[in-house]
Amino acid sequence: MALLPLKDLYMECLNCKKCNLSNTRNNVVFGEGNYKSKIMFIGEGPGKDEDLQGKPFVGRAGQLLNKMLEAINLKREDIYIANIVKCRPPNNRVPLEEEIQACIPYLRNQVAIISPKIIVCLGSTAAKAIIDKNFKITAMRGRWYERKGVSIIATYHPAALLRDPAKKTEAWEDFKAIKEKLDNL
Ligand code: URA
Ligand code: SF4
Repeated sequence: MALLPLKDLYMECLNCKKCNLSNTRNNVVFGEGNYKSKIMFIGEGPGKDEDLQGKPFVGRAGQLLNKMLEAINLKREDIYIANIVKCRPPNNRVPLEEEIQACIPYLRNQVAIISPKIIVCLGSTAAKAIIDKNFKITAMRGRWYERKGVSIIATYHPAALLRDPAKKTEAWEDFKAIKEKLDNL
């Protein structure tokens, strides 16, 4: 796929029927934020609220993410945020490998255009698709991976923190490491 400007890519995604998630979505959730940002956050896929609004991380998990960003002096307007798949998997199931493979070229195109210095994978679906297919979030979160001049890290998905608040201590360590990396760019 040729590298498209963000707006053209957006238009292409809005009409996409490359996988079966197109049959059940209400809206394609392309991603949003500051396309000049040095830092990009990548989630798994839209949930119910995101599917209804067409925007990433606007539900409960998104509100927790916003609080964690604020704690390291970042606002949503400062970052760019997208997902591994752009259409909601029914009942929020984990996206299938074929859905990920169909959708991920769009995300790669976004990354190529935005050209972030830091990528934060939120949860194991993003970490597996981006860092390592055998990624184990509990053991491998909080470590930096360097790829083509981009620093990549994975932390818990905010939805996992809502289910298990005990994980927040480690997530907070990860966010502090992210802030330090950003401050030292
Ligand atoms: N969870 C995700 O992974 N992405 C969203 O956009 C919302 C919830
Ligand atoms: Fe297209 Fe991605 Fe939506 Fe599948 S999830 S229909 S590949 S935009």
